[in-house]
Amino acid sequence: PLVLGIETSCDETGVGIVRGHTLLADAVASSVDEHARYGGVVPEVASRAHLEAMVPTIQRALKQAGVSARDLDGIAVTAGPGLAGALLVGVSAAKAYAYALGKPLYGVNHLASHICVDQLEHGALPEPTMALLVSGGHSSLLLAPDITSDVRPLGATIDDAAGEAFDKVARVLGLGFPGGPVIDRYAREGDPEAIAFPRGLSGGRDPIYDFSFSGLKTAVARWVEARRRDGQDVPVADVAASFQEAVVDVLTRKAVRACRDNGVDHLMIGGGVAANSRLRALAEQRCTDAGIRLRVPRPGLCTDNGAMVAALGAEMVARGRAASTLDLPADSSLPVTDVSVPGYAQLPAP
Ligand code: ATP
Ligand code: MG
Ligand code: FE
Repeated sequence: PLVLGIETSCDETGVGIVRGHTLLADAVASSVDEHARYGGVVPEVASRAHLEAMVPTIQRALKQAGVSARDLDGIAVTAGPGLAGALLVGVSAAKAYAYALGKPLYGVNHLASHICVDQLEHGALPEPTMALLVSGGHSSLLLAPDITSDVRPLGATIDDAAGEAFDKVARVLGLGFPGGPVIDRYAREGDPEAIAFPRGLSGGRDPIYDFSFSGLKTAVARWVEARRRDGQDVPVADVAASFQEAVVDVLTRKAVRACRDNGVDHLMIGGGVAANSRLRALAEQRCTDAGIRLRVPRPGLCTDNGAMVAALGAEMVARGRAASTLDLPADSSLPVTDVSVPGYAQLPAP
């Protein structure tokens, strides 16, 4: 099926077009530069940027794919989770196009999309799929028997998300926003064993599949403050490398453990933090050692984009899942277990 996907949950206006597992277009307009001076995404600024970028980005994607909107089999859109005002722009645009073109509308979950995008890279997902989802707002181990309808959380962060920790540590080091890519870069020049930062929830009595990154973030901040107080230079590359190692060590160890415990022979890693070069390398090493096949999309498909939404939409169409009704709501706190949102008209009367 030929499906167009719209993503506006945060600061990326993404429009992707896929045919089944084949990526035809991936157009992204980002407002990240407008947020940088505030040190984080400003919701109102993001919403306005989406509004300006929406139609041109859709047109760019159609042109890139060389298809006509009339040929689409469906229009998919991120219905949540994310920033409410930002989501509304994408959902409204998707409804307008679906209504005007007479195409089915699919409101889908942003997190399931971060997993499903790997079909564009490595073909059909195994069933069940074991996924480590690591992004700006989430860090979870998920087992998905069916990515279009059944996603089960095994564990999640009890405080900060991994990406959030990268962003906060970058701020402490004065490296700007977003923090992930710049810490990744600095860490290449640093020693990952220079400083022994804590590995959260790694004790024998701790929950096996849950994560915690708040203590690590505080430990890094304290370490840096102590150096500054003593008038010493802060070895930015070593701090970045040691912090990053603490994050990816825990993520990969728990993910491999989850695969082993559940008898799953592969691991999918998705979300913005999956773009991290050290996470990719360590996961490859540990999966190889454990006889687990690793599936990670290329970095550009890990961070937010429209292709991932189109990928999940196409899978919904292929499996004959029900479309959403045109009263589809955006849900800023959509749970990971709700892979799609039906719309009010499909809900039973109260
Ligand atoms: P969610 O998907 O949970 O709703 P989000 O959509 O805002 O959150 P993503 O776009 O999936 O998040 O990921 C953004 C996060 O990924 C940011 O925290 C960013 O710092 C982080 N990130 C991006 N590239 C890298 C990298 N190379 N290394 C580490 N982190 C990275
Ligand atoms: Mg982003
Ligand atoms: Fe995301």
